[in-house]
Order: sequence, then structure tokens, then C-alpha cells
Amino acid sequence: MAQQIGSQSWDTDVLIVGAGPVGLTLACELLRRGVSCRLIEQLETPYTIVRAHALQPRTLELFDRMGLIEPVLRQGGEVPPWYLYDGQKRVGELGFAPLKQEPYPGMWFIQQPTVEHILHERLQELGGNIEYSHNLTQLQNSPNGITATVVAPDKTVELRARYLVGCDGGHSTTRHLLGIPFTGKTLPGLLLIAEVDMDWARSRNRAHIWLHPNGLFSATFIEEVGKWQLVVAAPALSREQVPTASLDLFQQLFQQRTGDMHTRLSNPSWTSVFAINQRLARNYRQEQAFLAGDAAHVHSPAGGLGMNTGIQDAYNLAWKLALVIKDRAYPALLDTYEEERRPVGELLLQATEANTTVALSGNAGMRFMRDHLLLPLTRLPALKRKATQRGAQLDLNYRTSSLARSDELSNVKTAYSAAYLQNKLLQLVTPTLLQAGDRAPDGTCLQALDHNATSLFQEMRGTSWHLLLFAGRPGPRPYIQGLIGLAQQIEARLGAWSSEVLPLLIISSYQQLRAHNWPGKVLLDPEGRLHKRYGAQGQALYLVRPDGYIGFRGFPGRPEALFDYLDTIFLPPQISPTKEEAHV
Ligand SMILES: Cc1cc2nc3c(=O)[nH]c(=O)nc-3n(C[C@H](O)[C@H](O)[C@H](O)COP(=O)(O)OP(=O)(O)OC[C@H]3O[C@@H](n4cnc5c(N)ncnc54)[C@H](O)[C@@H]3O)c2cc1C
Repeated sequence: MAQQIGSQSWDTDVLIVGAGPVGLTLACELLRRGVSCRLIEQLETPYTIVRAHALQPRTLELFDRMGLIEPVLRQGGEVPPWYLYDGQKRVGELGFAPLKQEPYPGMWFIQQPTVEHILHERLQELGGNIEYSHNLTQLQNSPNGITATVVAPDKTVELRARYLVGCDGGHSTTRHLLGIPFTGKTLPGLLLIAEVDMDWARSRNRAHIWLHPNGLFSATFIEEVGKWQLVVAAPALSREQVPTASLDLFQQLFQQRTGDMHTRLSNPSWTSVFAINQRLARNYRQEQAFLAGDAAHVHSPAGGLGMNTGIQDAYNLAWKLALVIKDRAYPALLDTYEEERRPVGELLLQATEANTTVALSGNAGMRFMRDHLLLPLTRLPALKRKATQRGAQLDLNYRTSSLARSDELSNVKTAYSAAYLQNKLLQLVTPTLLQAGDRAPDGTCLQALDHNATSLFQEMRGTSWHLLLFAGRPGPRPYIQGLIGLAQQIEARLGAWSSEVLPLLIISSYQQLRAHNWPGKVLLDPEGRLHKRYGAQGQALYLVRPDGYIGFRGFPGRPEALFDYLDTIFLPPQISPTKEEAHV
């Protein structure tokens, strides 16, 4: 049914093109926030070929926020260690160092079709569905909305939407129709992939990798399809030399790379040959249309980051679209999507190109470095941890975003200056100290009332912003009163949409709270671990965005800076957004 808003009418708020993992995530997150959307997909049924194999810790954190972590953990497993071979001889093993401080300490082995299935089920629970056999063919994009021509089996329809998001993969129709350049390059060589049966006795709980002068060869067992997935790097080959990837070709390459002349490959369920493209869309937004996932960035699968990054794109965009569509935030909030996510895409391309060059290289010098220098180094625990941390995508930050703001002024009130100086000093000696734009980390604590164990992430689930008010060491009563007063002021300022920002009072001792009649959520941090993780020696406040990044960092003693930050994002409840100038 068409929606009427002012003089405009739309079939839906957001039209999502493409029901891969990115389109599905976006649809779920919009529906969860009460925003209408339609999800169209050109295929007749779900795509079942296994591409991505794993979710990174950062994506697991988002699935936790979405309330989907249980099915993900139930249906996946730990990433198998990699056995490295030179011919028939095993020459090493690569594993990942668990990130012990984090709730999800490492990659989770789960196949892309399973992830999509979990998301699809959630979509249906939320009242949504995938409109299969619906193909976007034309697009009119204007500041007032989108008109999309969609070809379905028995009809061609025109759909009007306030916004459109192209999640339609590397060959994105949306990107083509918008005329957005997809700049980059094609790396030399080819990748060949097949899913086959193999009559060998190698462990199915390991990935087996051969480092051969002609290129890398890997075999990983995929439980869901009951077959081995083979990935073969052919740095010296071009498209003209390998038009199709036949079973015979894989058998030949297998023997060449592994030296195993006995094992037979059979029953291929899928084979593919492709060149590796490294490309990035020049814009992620054009008027009312956005690009997300592979539609915005394609790159080598080395590093296992494509699906993960796309899901994170969708999550970043969903909460912003929802706030703007519900007339709670200024429309300029939407510009921060490209501002934040395109640099992540750029980084991704750089990292995957470097990984690919090292992993797949046919160059003798590079191979020597890889096998005799880099691989031995990766066995060092510190480097192993660093590599795991990098891949985990927990270090990604938006420090340079216009949404990241720290109250760093030195003229803080006397009563708070000691805490301010302490924090400043800590920042100097600990460059890793949290800053605005960083991912807000987790930590264990207790629920203040019943002393039940909980964690910050558990308390921050849902769709809201969270205002973390750290009380610091046990202090005098007026101090807590000040924090409670601040939370109440925020609630009053946001009025009808105060549920968008939920305060969490974090105290060291229950004594601090006695005699205060505070109905809000209070967490107890008796050993001060959470305070320490947030660098909150004294009092401090952090405003955490709905996607778990720190938007604002400051001091409860200077509430004006926080009010000012909120005023740049949230519309005053009584003002109509259409009459307002955007001013993020
Ligand atoms: C061999 C391989 C291994 C990989 N391994 C990993 C890995 O380990 N980890 C990782 O994170 N990533 C990996 N990736 C990348 C990952 O598969 C992609 O990044 C991911 O699929 C992107 O999701 P998406 O939703 O953006 O696009 P897609 O999954 O491509 O989905 C796009 C959808 O849009 C639909 N569509 C296209 N045009 C239209 C239209 N005009 N109208 C309607 N619908 C349309 C398509 O049919 C498709 O279903 C790998 C990729 C490959 C090829």
C-alpha cells in the first residue's frame, strides 16, 4: 500500500536491490527499527554456492546486537588450523591467536549460504520477505525520491521509494544505472575454484595448503555441502588460456601442486575461474541512492573480508536511514555513511592486494620472502595476535568522521580538572586509549540491583544510542547526583524520542548509589575493570552510537558539549525536518 507523506507518496521507505548477505542485513535492521522496506532479488531462489567461509569478530558483535548470535554460534565452528605442505611433506601449521579480552575471540567458520539463511529467517520473523525474480532495470533518482522499474515474471512495475540501496553485488545494476565509476584494477593471474569429492584420508578439520612455485593450492572441507572446496592460484595464467575450469584441469593442477598422483577428484558441484578485481565505487551515495557491499567494493577473497565488510556497511547505513526516515535526525546524517565507510573500503583494497600478492605470488623473490621470512614470523605469538586482531576488524575506527567528537577543552571546571588531567596524561602515555570514533569495547560487570553477572555488550543490545556515565572511584553523594541529573536533562531535551539515547550509570560501589532514587539502569564495576578499559580514572562519559562506535567522549561536568553534539544530530522534537537546514 502506498504511503502518503506531505505531497509525496511512496510504495516503501527503502527499496533494497539484491538479497545477498548485505541486502538481507539492511532489510532486517530497517524492519527492526520500524522502517518499511522492500527487498527485491533477480534470482528465483537463494544462491547456494559457498563463497565466504567465516564471520570476523566485529561482524559477530553486530550479529550479537541484532539478536542473531545464537543461531550463528550454533551452526558454525572454530576456524580450522591450516596445514602447510611442500609436496608430500608438512612444513608448518598456521593458527589464529584468540583475542582473549574480546567476547568473540576469533573468526567463526560458517558458510555464506548459512549466514544468509539465518538472516532470511529473521527477515520473515520481522514480517519481511524476499521478492524473488524481481529485476531492477531502470532508475530515476531525484532529491524527492526514487522511481525504479522492476521486471517481474508476469509484469513490469514502477516502484516509488524515498531511498534506494543497491546491494546488488560486484556487477551492480544500481551502480551502472547511476553512472558511478568503479575504479581500480585487475590483478595479474587467475583464481580457480571447485567443490569436489576426493578419495583421500586427510583430516576434514584442517585446511590443507600447498605452497608451490606455480602458485598456492588449498583444500578445505565444507560440511554443509559435504565436499572439498579447492582454491588454486594461477599467477601465470590469463583468461584466454583458461576459458573453463574443467574437472580434468583441477586433477592436473592438484597433481602438479601436491605431488599426489593417487587421489582422484570427482563429482564437481561447482567450478569457477575468475580474475581478481580490486575496485571501489567513486561515490557510495548519489542523492537518494546508496551503494553497499560488493556493489561498492570488490577485491581479492584473500583475507576473508568481503561479506564481513558489506554487512558492516549495511549496519552503518541502517540506523542512520531509520533516524532520518522517522524524522528524528537531520538528513545530513546520511552523508556520514560514505564519509565513514568509503575509507574502510579503501583500506580493504590496500590490505587485500598486499595479502594476495604475498599469498599467490608467482615471483621467485616474493615466494622466498613468504616461505622463509613471513611464515616463520607468523608463528611468533605477538605477530599471530596482531594478524588475528587485524583480520578481526576490531581496530577499524571512525576517528576522522564528523560524527566523532571529543570534548578536549582545557578550561574544565576546577572540580573536574584532576580527572581531566589524569585522562589527558593517560592519552599521552597510552596511545591506544579510547577516542571518539573508536569501537566501544566490551567488559564484564554486575547488574547493580541483584549483582547478577552481565557485560556491557549485553546491556547495549538493541537499536538505541547509549550514554555511558562512569562515576569513577567512590566519591561524595553530589557527584552521583550530578550524573543522574545529566541523564535526566538528556531525557528532557530529547522529549518524545528520549528512547533513542539510553543512559547507563556505571559505578564502582553500591554505596555510591544509596539514597538516590534512580529508575535507570545501573551497572556495578567493583574492581574498576570497565573504568580502566575506558580510561575512566575519574568521571567520564561516552556516547555510544547504535552500531557500537563512540560518537562523543567528554566529561559530565561539561554537559554543554554533549548537548551541542546531540543538537547537531537529533532534530528538536517539535520541529519539522523538511523546514530545517541540515547541519551535522
Ligand atoms: C571465491 C570467493 C570467496 C570468498 N570468500 C570470502 C570470505 O571468506 N569472507 C568474506 O567476508 N567474503 C568472501 N567473499 C566475498 C563475499 O562472497 C562477497 O563479499 C559477498 O557475497 C557480498 O555480498 P553482497 O550482498 O554485497 O553481494 P552478493 O552476495 O553478490 O549479492 C548480490 C545479490 O544481488 C542480486 N542482484 C544483482 N543484480 C540485481 C538486479 N538488477 N535486480 C535484483 N537483484 C539483483 C544478485 O542476484 C545477488 O543475489 C568471497 C567471494 C568469493 C567469490
